[in-house]
Amino acid sequence: MRAFTFASARTVEDALDALADGGPGPKRFIAGGTNLIDLMKEDVARPAALVDINRVGLDEIRPTEAGGLLLGALARNAATARHPEVRRRYPLVSAAILAGASPQIRNMATNGGNLLQRTRCHYFYDVGTPCNKREPGEGCSAIEGLARQHAILGASEHCIATHPSDLCVALAALGAVVHVRSAAGQRLIPFEQFHRLPGDEPQRDTTLGEDELITAIELPPSDGYAAHSTYLKVRERASYAFALVSVAAALDLDEDGAVRGARLALGGVAHKPWRVPEAEEALVGARPTPAAFEAAAETALAGAQSRGDNAFKIPLAHRAVVRALGMALDGVPANTGLLGLPFFAGEPFEGTPLDRMDTEEQP
Ligand SMILES: Cc1cc2nc3c(=O)[nH]c(=O)nc-3n(C[C@H](O)[C@H](O)[C@H](O)COP(=O)(O)OP(=O)(O)OC[C@H]3O[C@@H](n4cnc5c(N)ncnc54)[C@H](O)[C@@H]3O)c2cc1C
Ligand code: SF4
Repeated sequence: MRAFTFASARTVEDALDALADGGPGPKRFIAGGTNLIDLMKEDVARPAALVDINRVGLDEIRPTEAGGLLLGALARNAATARHPEVRRRYPLVSAAILAGASPQIRNMATNGGNLLQRTRCHYFYDVGTPCNKREPGEGCSAIEGLARQHAILGASEHCIATHPSDLCVALAALGAVVHVRSAAGQRLIPFEQFHRLPGDEPQRDTTLGEDELITAIELPPSDGYAAHSTYLKVRERASYAFALVSVAAALDLDEDGAVRGARLALGGVAHKPWRVPEAEEALVGARPTPAAFEAAAETALAGAQSRGDNAFKIPLAHRAVVRALGMALDGVPANTGLLGLPFFAGEPFEGTPLDRMDTEEQP
């Protein structure tokens, strides 16, 4: 690891000032450190200055006046997943978080850091191979290389990496808004505008400025989606693996059982969480039948392109969309989720093995 300066901030203003005063070279905030420290150890990230934001507050989860919920950027992923209001009104968010990483990592990882975690493309982590995201202009090793994990939608000739977050797929589906602060003031970024497609600048994952701090993530009112939502994650092994394909699906059903509203986003398929408004719109007004779900999957995957050994992802994503919509229709109580555990059956988590793992003190 290379030398860097370190400052610990006590307030948001301190953090912004400390970053501005960090001297020449790249400067980064550090929250849980679960991604940034790994990247620094691998010599992929080389910040000259780190500003620790763990003591600035911003860890609150509270209702908004608009009827939604504000998730503090420094709230830990584990605390967010088990927060009573998140579980009750946004079970999709809980499910997505619990599908990711491990209990220890979720206890450290923050909501803000989760949005800014970097791709898991193995070439990006291997400084011995060309990678446009790490060193613009070097070339992309994945395009002619191993691309099993890589994008089938929205890729460019410069980068075919995927975004690795589970939480972000749920936030994209729900239409969250990212709150950010800088010396210039506050800015609100709609979630679909937060992450970028690679284009010819794959080094830029997001539209966040280098001097901007994420302060919170705002969830809009949950409408009728809480009762009919699911996060389906398909991966190489049952836990502790990034998604090959994931789907966040939510349905708002009217009194007659027809679809009043639909939310659909895919993970593991693109450089950003891939929300599909066209598929959502096609479901509105329809009966929630297998045929309607098949049509939605067709729309969601329109334009998908494989690169070598990731061709399997296209039919896999299609089946995952159909299955996730079916699970959402069955309703949250019937959705036993990963490992067959009844995470969100409307009962407190206490008593499920995963909850115990998440609430245990971790070193
Ligand atoms: C082994 C392993 C497995 C994992 N599996 C999964 C998985 O299956 N699914 C999944 O979704 N994630 C997974 N993760 C990723 C994990 O969720 C992220 O590493 C974590 O969410 C990052 O949060 P952090 O607080 O630790 O961020 P940090 O590592 O502290 O920071 C990450 C980046 O965000 C920036 N940053 C952090 N907070 C802010 C802020 N408030 N404002 C501006 N910039 C900020 C930092 O400067 C840095 O660039 C895994 C991680 C590991 C190590
Ligand atoms: S896919 Fe993107 S991250 Fe991976 S090697 Fe190519 S440029 Fe780098």
